[in-house]
Amino acid sequence: MKEFGYHRSTDVQDAVALLADEPEAHFLGGGTNLVDLMKAGVETPGLLVDVRNLPLRGIEVRADGALTIGATATNSDLAAHPEVRRRYPALSQAVLAGASGQLRNVATVGGNLLQRTRCGYFTDTSYPCNKRVPGSGCPAITGEHHNHAILGASEHCVATNPSDLGVALAAFDAVVSYEAIDGPGELPLADFYPAVGDTPHVETALPAGALITAVTLPAAPVAARSRYRKVRERASYAFATGSVAAALDVDGGVVRDVRIAFGAVASRPWRAHAAERSLTGAPATAEAFAAAADAELAAAKPLPHNGYKVRLMRNLMVSVLTELAEEAAR
Ligand SMILES: Cc1cc2nc3c(=O)[nH]c(=O)nc-3n(C[C@H](O)[C@H](O)[C@H](O)COP(=O)(O)OP(=O)(O)OC[C@H]3O[C@@H](n4cnc5c(N)ncnc54)[C@H](O)[C@@H]3O)c2cc1C
Ligand code: SF4
Repeated sequence: MKEFGYHRSTDVQDAVALLADEPEAHFLGGGTNLVDLMKAGVETPGLLVDVRNLPLRGIEVRADGALTIGATATNSDLAAHPEVRRRYPALSQAVLAGASGQLRNVATVGGNLLQRTRCGYFTDTSYPCNKRVPGSGCPAITGEHHNHAILGASEHCVATNPSDLGVALAAFDAVVSYEAIDGPGELPLADFYPAVGDTPHVETALPAGALITAVTLPAAPVAARSRYRKVRERASYAFATGSVAAALDVDGGVVRDVRIAFGAVASRPWRAHAAERSLTGAPATAEAFAAAADAELAAAKPLPHNGYKVRLMRNLMVSVLTELAEEAAR
């Protein structure tokens, strides 16, 4: 492992200035992804700027009802927060579905959004990989890809985004705040992860060296009836093969408001806009949920060994929405 410097920062501007001065520096959150990648030789920073002592741990409900989550809040604190559990239960469930208790105790919200793909070719430097070394090729397309993308991928990369948290944030229109060397800025999560195209190594729209400071969820009454469901190859401590975050508001048997996002199917958390459009104003029935899933998944382009994900996502979405509709009818 390459030698590196370590600096524990207590001031946001200082942390950002340090990264601007040192092009090989990385921010360090809980280190649960970055340190693993350093051991594997995938990441080789010259300096780690530890952000965990920055004053960015708070989780607060604002006067307008929005929820602001500090970037260094741990995944455990986020999942356990009473307002998160009450206003956005799917968000708490998504976090608890990820990793393990020990990992969630140190993993941060900012680090979770920037964790890298779990594609085995990306983490093994003996293989080519367009994401790690642009232009070197994508062995996953003809190789092992049973847990790779079915939506929004390209001929250059078919990796998925592994975050559970990100799926719930996508369903609830999260906005990411950051501090860059030339000042603060905001990015809706919908624009945070660019399309893969021919630049799979460009994973976010953040300015170079920007520090994520917070994530804000606008007030969304529909989110109070929401759920996150994850399918994985082990009952715990495993990344998703497919997941759904959904929220549903039903009035007189008709869908008044609905939010749906898919996980583990694309290079970013996948907001299911076509399904939402199909359902708004439709009867809250299993048939309408299935038709909406089909509308969303019409764009799927599975590879030879991951076609099962199309059926999986359809079944997941229908079962989660059916449960929410039954709850609403009680
Ligand atoms: C065995 C195992 C199982 C796991 N299972 C799951 C799972 O099922 N679901 C899931 O979602 N995740 C899972 N994870 C991933 C885990 O959730 C992430 O590793 C974690 O959330 C990353 O947070 P961190 O604070 O440790 O990030 P770090 O590892 O510290 O950093 C990750 C990246 O984010 C950057 N960064 C960190 N903070 C900031 C900031 N504030 N601003 C800008 N850049 C920043 C770092 O420079 C780095 O590039 C698993 C991890 C392990 C090791
Ligand atoms: S899918 Fe993406 S991350 Fe995996 S080998 Fe291909 S280019 Fe690399």
